[in-house]
Amino acid sequence: MTTTHHTKVLKQIGHKPGKYKKYLKNSVPKQRAFGRTTKRCEHCGSMNGHIGKYGLNLCRKCFRDYATELGFKQYR
Ligand SMILES: [Zn+2]
Repeated sequence: MTTTHHTKVLKQIGHKPGKYKKYLKNSVPKQRAFGRTTKRCEHCGSMNGHIGKYGLNLCRKCFRDYATELGFKQYR
């Protein structure tokens, strides 16, 4: 099962207590203090290609979409 965020799965299997317990034990990602999995894109939730510079907190794909709206001139 691949999802963008584990809370989606927890919502889906919330009414099945056995599966819910098993998913919590084995498949919920560990809480981390640092590393690339601690940062998510504010728009789409992706963990890949994160841009944190200037407090953007967007992935490279969303940055490309919103760059001109944000006032970046060089990025086309
Ligand atoms: Zn994104």
